[in-house]
Amino acid sequence: MFSNKNINQLAQSETPFYYYDLALLQETLSNCAEAANVYNFHVHYAMKANFNSGVLKKIKETGFGADCVSGGEVSRAIELGFDKGKIVFAGVGKSDKEIIAALDLDIFCFNVESIQELDVINELARGKGKKTKVAIRINPNVDAHTHHNITTGLDENKFGINSWDLPECIDTLKKCENLEFIGIHFHIGSQITNLDVYKNLCIRVNEFATWFEEKGFIVKILNVGGGLGIDYHNPDHQIPDFKSYFKIFDEFLEKRPSQEVHFELGRALVGQCSSLISKVLYVKNGKKKNFIILDAGMTELMRPALYQAYHKIQNLSKLDAPVSLKYDVVGPICESTDCFGKEVELPETLRGDLIALRSTGAYGEVMASHYNLRNEIRSVYSE
Ligand SMILES: *Cc1c(COP(=O)(O)O)cnc(C)c1O
Repeated sequence: MFSNKNINQLAQSETPFYYYDLALLQETLSNCAEAANVYNFHVHYAMKANFNSGVLKKIKETGFGADCVSGGEVSRAIELGFDKGKIVFAGVGKSDKEIIAALDLDIFCFNVESIQELDVINELARGKGKKTKVAIRINPNVDAHTHHNITTGLDENKFGINSWDLPECIDTLKKCENLEFIGIHFHIGSQITNLDVYKNLCIRVNEFATWFEEKGFIVKILNVGGGLGIDYHNPDHQIPDFKSYFKIFDEFLEKRPSQEVHFELGRALVGQCSSLISKVLYVKNGKKKNFIILDAGMTELMRPALYQAYHKIQNLSKLDAPVSLKYDVVGPICESTDCFGKEVELPETLRGDLIALRSTGAYGEVMASHYNLRNEIRSVYSE
């Protein structure tokens, strides 16, 4: 991703900033679209991973739908020209205001996460004289084998409707005249790198689809969510293996001829296309530790502080120099968790060196905060 040529360009911009490689994004999107088209699979982009306007524009142009988890995301998707018929709205806590706005915008479907929510959407739709499509988000109790903070499909998680509540769920569906049931939805977690997890998911999806059919429902859509992980340790091997990923669903889902399979990918599409670029403010060489203090902190990139996430750290000013020292790389924020990496091996680093935190395209810029009254985060694009 980095050459001495673009590093010179980067050195001109005020740090810190998110650097977006739009050519790589484009290649990743095309690769995914091509792999999905083989099976006629539908892809929705999970907007919460990154809603930078330059990124969203490319994704919209690829023709993907949008998977939104708030009213704000729904309206942003519409503003940017995403097809209304490809916008889905998930989330355990949709407010009445958000539901009403989405009903007014005629989005494709609500992914409903509780029985109470079914009643609420039904009431609000009735108030508008509308009938709206819903899919039931089921918690399938499948272990995603990922970090526990980003696991969503186990019995103890707050997401989706648990299997033991499904009989009551269909009773409710039957009496809700302003709802049209179109299918079932799952999302079991994020940064999933063991693809066998998805085989287990498919087996559960088949069981639930059959169960609904036996109860007299037509399951038109199987929405299997997202979660496909990226390789944070090798950011230069950058495009996820979409072919193998989709192939698993083709092989293991017992898809009926009239059924559609939908996906909601976030991280896998955008994770590798960005790095957070920062400058070294100070180097403190201690007795026990050497510290590099950056001008970016957890206010720009929260993942390490939030769930001990790993991001590869490179000194762009010394790309060709051999690593020679170990540093704790930290930010300027008054929190001890404001640390991007401990004992990171780097070339000898000096004040003013340009540092890249790699693979920050997903859950990076979107989680930036104003804590400590820090500046608005900037972004820089490269084609
Ligand atoms: C976050 C989320 C996704 C995307 O997850 P990734 O790990 O980024 O692929 C998909 N579906 C739902 C419902 C989500 O909340």
